[in-house]
Amino acid sequence: MAIPPSPGPQTLAIHAGAPTPRIHGAGVLPIFQGTLFELGADDPSVRYPRLSNTPNHDALHGKLAALEGAEAALVTASGMAAITSTLLAVAGGGHVLVQDTLYGGTHGFLIHTARTLGLQFDFVDAGRPETWAAKLRPDTKAFYTEAMSNPCLTVADHRAVVAFCRKHQLLGLIDNTFASPCNFTPLALGYDVSLHSATKYLNGHSDVVAGAVIGTRDLVAQVRSRVDHLGGTVDAFTCYLLDRGLKTLPLRIREQNANAQRIAEFLDGHPGVHRVHYPGLSGHPQHARACELFAGHGGVVTADLHDEARAATRLVHRVELFTPTPSLGGVESLVTIPAQTSHAELSRAERQQLGVGEGLVRLSIGIENADDLIADLDRALR
Ligand SMILES: *Cc1c(COP(=O)(O)O)cnc(C)c1O
Repeated sequence: MAIPPSPGPQTLAIHAGAPTPRIHGAGVLPIFQGTLFELGADDPSVRYPRLSNTPNHDALHGKLAALEGAEAALVTASGMAAITSTLLAVAGGGHVLVQDTLYGGTHGFLIHTARTLGLQFDFVDAGRPETWAAKLRPDTKAFYTEAMSNPCLTVADHRAVVAFCRKHQLLGLIDNTFASPCNFTPLALGYDVSLHSATKYLNGHSDVVAGAVIGTRDLVAQVRSRVDHLGGTVDAFTCYLLDRGLKTLPLRIREQNANAQRIAEFLDGHPGVHRVHYPGLSGHPQHARACELFAGHGGVVTADLHDEARAATRLVHRVELFTPTPSLGGVESLVTIPAQTSHAELSRAERQQLGVGEGLVRLSIGIENADDLIADLDRALR
């Protein structure tokens, strides 16, 4: 399949990475479930699923790289496998600056495990560039951020991060899960590696655990060697499912952006809601930055309810179209109370510092009919 010059993401999501010629003419790449591949006379390299090099891995890597305009990509066994293997590969034995509002798993890895593996780190406020240089060390190797923070959707000063990395010869690493490649292509801005929990938007159907590492050929090869050794690889069937999910990524993201914008606007004017966090609202503190950097504002909307925990719990019990669960990024709408789930291990004071009040409700908006979702929320808030 010849892909035209400068294809749109919709075209890439369907066709990029597919082998040419097609294997036995198959229009959908067959699943190479086996673990044995005969050594070829002219190609003596070992093919083996743990080395992420079956035809299903190859095709998926091509598609993931194309969607973010990168040279190379690697699929991993989870988002955490992508994040931890990348940090160890590019900054192991050294030091990394990390954004202070991180996904819980990444935060937990840094606090509890990173130092035992020789990885040092310091937290920085990714919105205050004037504070970063003071945290630099001679062995600082990278700067790690997230596209939007969870759950309040703060947008880091990504342009300043990239400039700081250039100036101090650091690698810029970003967890792009919340934006997805359709809303943000961080490599085009100057980041070196984009990471994903493919469990969320990339797969989009809440039936796969996987991750992705996207970047230059050289950096992806470094991470790949680490993943080969640590074993955080996926099997061919998971590759097939993720490739299948990716085909509708641009369609899903378009709907989720539009639904989330409508729901954010509805909640913003609702008397039961104290404050809405959504980068697509003009009142969001980084709205202008989000408009400049992102093609869309994503599918997560967070609302602070008056009457705190009682109101949040009541909402979660009353909604019918939103499943109560802390994950995100699927075609179905979800609701969670961060103070009781993702941020439950923190003290009330620590949560307050992150803006995570007891009445904060995080919605992951799916692709259901927006009017139906709004009616459901309206009824639940009464
Ligand atoms: C879910 C998530 C992860 C971890 O991904 P897993 O696939 O669960 O390992 C990392 N970063 C962000 C922003 C996430 O939402």
